[in-house]
Amino acid sequence: MTDRYAVLGNPIGHSKSPLIHTEFARSTGQDLGYTAIETPLDGFADTVLGFRASGGRGLNVSLPFKLQAFEIATEPSERARLAGAANCLKFEGERILADNFDGVGLVNDLQRNLGVPLQGKRVLLLGAGGATRGALLPIAAEQPALLSVANRTPEKAHALRHDFAAHVPLQTGGYDTLLGQRFDVVINATSTGLSQEALPLPDGLFAPGALAYDMVYGKGLTPFLRQAKAAGVERVADGVGMLVEQAAEAFLWWRGVRPDPQPVVRQLTVPLV
Ligand code: NAP
Repeated sequence: MTDRYAVLGNPIGHSKSPLIHTEFARSTGQDLGYTAIETPLDGFADTVLGFRASGGRGLNVSLPFKLQAFEIATEPSERARLAGAANCLKFEGERILADNFDGVGLVNDLQRNLGVPLQGKRVLLLGAGGATRGALLPIAAEQPALLSVANRTPEKAHALRHDFAAHVPLQTGGYDTLLGQRFDVVINATSTGLSQEALPLPDGLFAPGALAYDMVYGKGLTPFLRQAKAAGVERVADGVGMLVEQAAEAFLWWRGVRPDPQPVVRQLTVPLV
């Protein structure tokens, strides 16, 4: 029987996950079906349990349900626990396993697809929401020289320093604290790529040869990437590779087979102009 998987979100019509997983299934010869399910805002748990009851094997979880995905899990991974959020569920009998592959997807995209090793680099994350929470452990595992988080609401960045203190040494603050500092890798993990708002970035933020990375995808040149280009940054990227790489990790977790993400990354990449 064909194994069934799905992505839950609201809205979910824009999701690339069905395309990505269908292509992974084809390229690895796995027999599975994958759909997108528009999930009522007050109906996440019912949708998850209903999908499992009908024989579903696992779920990807998109906005705004990543916190609820963590809460419904009977066995969250360490990185999902630290992030307080999950983007992937796996059903094994009565057990609901949860993991968070966003951060490892980001790191794989930076290092494998974009050829930017993080070891010894000065890395800055803009934003202190779920995406940053998920990214901290995987980035720290690559041993950057510095990992810094700046956020509009500095208290939320400081809270991350507290929550991750046992795992990751973090520099945290508001955007004003970035004045006079330079970074090799600057990652926009705010939602401003969706709202098209600019960030108050100081001059001189980008070191020579820096990479500017916006986690949002499919939006072309976001205000953040435009700011980076205006500051002379030549290497800019959006989050499409992160999306495909986190999907590859989920596929491996569910199926025990690692698909090659590269052809799908190439298929979904749109020029940043
Ligand atoms: P979130 O939890 O809602 O956090 C949003 C963050 O953006 C907060 O730090 C917030 O700051 C900041 N922000 C919002 N509007 C701002 C503004 N006008 N100026 C400055 N900061 C602002 O969102 P998330 O889940 O972390 O997602 C963040 C982004 O990552 C989204 O664009 C999402 O699409 C993207 N993402 C991409 C992937 C992928 O696979 N490529 C995966 C996950 C997420 P305050 O704390 O001050 O409100």
